[in-house]
Amino acid sequence: MTPADALARVVAALPAAEDRAGQREMVSAVSAAITDQHHLVVQAGTGTGKTLGYLVPAIVAGKRTVVATATKALQDQLAAKDLPFLEEHLGVDFTWSVLKGRSNYLCMQRVRELSAADTGQLELEEMAGSTKLEIMRLAEWAGRTATGDATDLPESVSDRAWQAVSVGSDECPGAKRCPMGDVCFAEAARQRAEHADVVVVNLHLYGLDVAADGAILPPHDVLVVDEAHQLEDIASDTVGLQIAPSRFVTVAAALRKVLAEPEVPSAVAEAASGLREVLQPSVGERLGVPLPDAVVEVLVDGRRRLEAAMSALRALDQAGKTSATAEVQQRVLRASQLTGRLVEAIDLASKIDDGWVPFVGGSPDHPRLEIAPLDVAPILREGVWGRRTAVLASATIPPSLPAAVGLPADRLVQLDVGSPFDYPGNALLYCARHLPDPRDASYTPKTHDELVALIDAAGGRTLALFTSWKAMDAAVAAVRARVDVPILSQRDLPKGRLVAEFTRSEPTCLFATAGFFQGFDAPGRTLSLVVIDRIPFPRPDDPLLSARREALGPTAFRQIDLPRAATMLAQATGRLIRTATDRGVVAVLDRRLSTATYGWDIVHALPPMRRTRERADAEAFLREITASSGG
Ligand code: SF4
Repeated sequence: MTPADALARVVAALPAAEDRAGQREMVSAVSAAITDQHHLVVQAGTGTGKTLGYLVPAIVAGKRTVVATATKALQDQLAAKDLPFLEEHLGVDFTWSVLKGRSNYLCMQRVRELSAADTGQLELEEMAGSTKLEIMRLAEWAGRTATGDATDLPESVSDRAWQAVSVGSDECPGAKRCPMGDVCFAEAARQRAEHADVVVVNLHLYGLDVAADGAILPPHDVLVVDEAHQLEDIASDTVGLQIAPSRFVTVAAALRKVLAEPEVPSAVAEAASGLREVLQPSVGERLGVPLPDAVVEVLVDGRRRLEAAMSALRALDQAGKTSATAEVQQRVLRASQLTGRLVEAIDLASKIDDGWVPFVGGSPDHPRLEIAPLDVAPILREGVWGRRTAVLASATIPPSLPAAVGLPADRLVQLDVGSPFDYPGNALLYCARHLPDPRDASYTPKTHDELVALIDAAGGRTLALFTSWKAMDAAVAAVRARVDVPILSQRDLPKGRLVAEFTRSEPTCLFATAGFFQGFDAPGRTLSLVVIDRIPFPRPDDPLLSARREALGPTAFRQIDLPRAATMLAQATGRLIRTATDRGVVAVLDRRLSTATYGWDIVHALPPMRRTRERADAEAFLREITASSGG
């Protein structure tokens, strides 16, 4: 069967069968990339059906494929919807599996330890009653679940309870050294992935696999990166390293479970305080290479304490080989594993060169030392692009992406298959050129007037996106008092409930920050107006980006800031039109979009909407939508 025939077959089986030219074009391009072994970067606008656009040709080609998604929502959608659908309708036999990080699976060894009459009971005694009950329910669930995957839990559990029955990859000694290795859920998931034709992972796990030189994922011929505009940032996070004070606390807790004397664990825990103190004043700042003396001192001191812990564990291991129970031996093994990994991280941190950017991330209460690569391109070139065919897909591909991630130009095809939606007919881009510059003192109150007028014309139904919490809070306070529709703030409810409430009540407006620029999906009448306060440029003082800017020199604005702002704005704009019948206005309250020389670069990255600078046009279109929808 050809990929085109396979696509026609599955599209015919969809509830709303719809032939989409962009999807056909994408299938043909992905198929050619796999056959010719070149890389493909494909921009597939909202509504293209891009998941089938890459899954169908990859499965028909019979190549082992890993699909890496940036968000858990997309990973779950592939597992719950797209892959089962293809299994039923594609007419090609294939197997698939989902693989997650180890801490997503229930650890049978931990369940066994917590059920042990002596040590397990002691550990449970130290926990709150509600956590104990949750753990008992999790132990029962361990006997029923086929996957042990936290996503499949019938009810939500507290982080504390889940942490008690799971282990991270830093802690697990591996199936061969674990008495429960034969019945381990994480190992079973790895085994399924080992034999599957399509493996779905998230980009974080893929980045860890690259950093571990392919030790985590099975060998594969094709990599598909969905939501590929996030690849550079996630790759930076995962191939770099992080040393937070909490890592010392975690090691100390593991040591306390096995060492009778409190001195060694306490000494390790004290290293956490030392590290916190030295990092706190520099949160959000870049550090030098080599690391500053004060930081090196606490790391060397921490390492010395970890070495002492390793010696104590080795002595315990020798002494207990014959007498200790299997549970105690496992605890010793895991404590050694955790301690050793932290020693390794400190050793790596002390060896960094100019290719790495150390900085202090986190918050003043929870600072952490982060070390990220200055440039992820060489790492991906060596670990990914040189080893397999890659398909990078997203609704928004910044022009800078191929260079930023190091895709080789001579083996690369780029394609934009557009969107099947009628953007010129259904969407209007309004730039409020009459407003003052965002850096002007009068800007904020004037944007509130603008919001009130637009929300009034739209009858509510507004998603207002802000580039700072401060701006969002000010707008909520000012606008709430002046409109007669409900205004929800991102601070009011957890994200899932905010989305549910916004969708349930048509007039309701939602005011939110950067986390809602992507992945917020509210199709239909409930959303007719998306407002964005400012062009979302990255922070000038972002430590990693400022190091990259320095390395690029005068071209940095065009290579870093502009594409990032355009991609974020395009993502935010993408919230408006989710189906073929959606209509509405995107209002940008930043005059620079129409006055700055770079404005066109940003506008060209957005879907092809009609454009206006007149608020009256936006209000008229919104009133027409409200009237035609009977609102
Ligand atoms: S191998 Fe053992 S310790 Fe590791 S996750 Fe599986 S059951 Fe837990």
